[in-house]
Amino acid sequence: MTEARKRSTQLTFVALIIVFIAISNALFVFLVIERIKNDARVLNYAGIVRGSIQRISKLELSGVKADKYISDVNTILEDFNRHGNGMDILIRSKKYMELERELGKEWKLLQEKIQELRENNYPGNRAQVFEISEKCWTIANALVFEAQSISEGKLFFLRFVFIISGVNIAVVILIIVLIRRHVRNKLEYLASYDHLTGVLNRYSFNVILRQEMKVLTRRQSSLSLLLLDIDHFKRINDKFGHDSGDYVLRKLAELISGSMRSGDAFFRIGGEEFAVVAVETKIEQAKVLAEKMRNLINSYRFDKVGKVSISIGIAAYRENETMEILTKRADNALYMAKKHGRNCVIAVQAG
Ligand code: GH3
Ligand code: MG
Ligand code: MG
Repeated sequence: MTEARKRSTQLTFVALIIVFIAISNALFVFLVIERIKNDARVLNYAGIVRGSIQRISKLELSGVKADKYISDVNTILEDFNRHGNGMDILIRSKKYMELERELGKEWKLLQEKIQELRENNYPGNRAQVFEISEKCWTIANALVFEAQSISEGKLFFLRFVFIISGVNIAVVILIIVLIRRHVRNKLEYLASYDHLTGVLNRYSFNVILRQEMKVLTRRQSSLSLLLLDIDHFKRINDKFGHDSGDYVLRKLAELISGSMRSGDAFFRIGGEEFAVVAVETKIEQAKVLAEKMRNLINSYRFDKVGKVSISIGIAAYRENETMEILTKRADNALYMAKKHGRNCVIAVQAG
């Protein structure tokens, strides 16, 4: 199951990356929207300054005091300076800052000239108010355009949101595919393998033996079924405890799995019963194989428990017999091995 654990760690890692991308994406969208909102404000107020300055000079030149408009422009320019009241143009260009400074300077001058005009309505003063107000308008106009171009530049970044979203969706689809595969693999594993020993279980035994027998009829090939049973296993449990019994089962499965020929299949089909489906194996070869397994187990010293022996019953496939009959014959052979004194191999002849 380490494979499953590894896969689940990988999936968790990918899921964390997705969460991270999604949060970054949302943050990015939030920031861009905030900036665009800011820009809209700046643009709007720069436009108000541009219009107000014209209006102020027009009113003052015709002898009407434009104090309200003057105070409006002052408030806006102060906000610009402090970058307060939503006037923080976050990606600030050098040009924008220069224009802002220049406008501030000219506006101050214009106010002084307006004051002079109010005191002395000389043509010289009128001309100066007119000239400076034109200058102010030009700078304010440039400021509006600069703010607009900065804002458009930011809009360009918004397209990255779509790219990131696309990547997000692709990763989510990928993770769904991985999870489905992972779950399917896990279910297949749980259905086919024995939890204690990790070898194929009784369900797999039925599936594989039936499948192999089907192929056999077509190919006219041989097959032997070996049933293995631990001798006096109950005593092992009673004497050394259930955990030691489990250990013997695991170790025995490991030893036999390690000694298997490729193509043969090994199963735990009951408590302390195992089976080997040996393909293209005649009964004589099966006996040699079984003797090897019996010896392997009998010569191994199990921790705490010591020596353990197994009995093996063998049946070779007979044409047209069913899986149930083949298994029954192997079981009879195993029964005979037990009767024969255990720790031995008995084979029933085919035909
Ligand atoms: P024999 O030589 O005739 O086969 O005798 P035996 O004691 O091996 O056979 P028996 O059928 O009397 O006992 C089998 C025992 O195996 C009984 C059961 O408690 C034990 N057993 C079955 N499954 C497990 C398991 O998963 N773990 C452990 N520790 N014991 C198990
Ligand atoms: Mg037994
Ligand atoms: Mg048994």
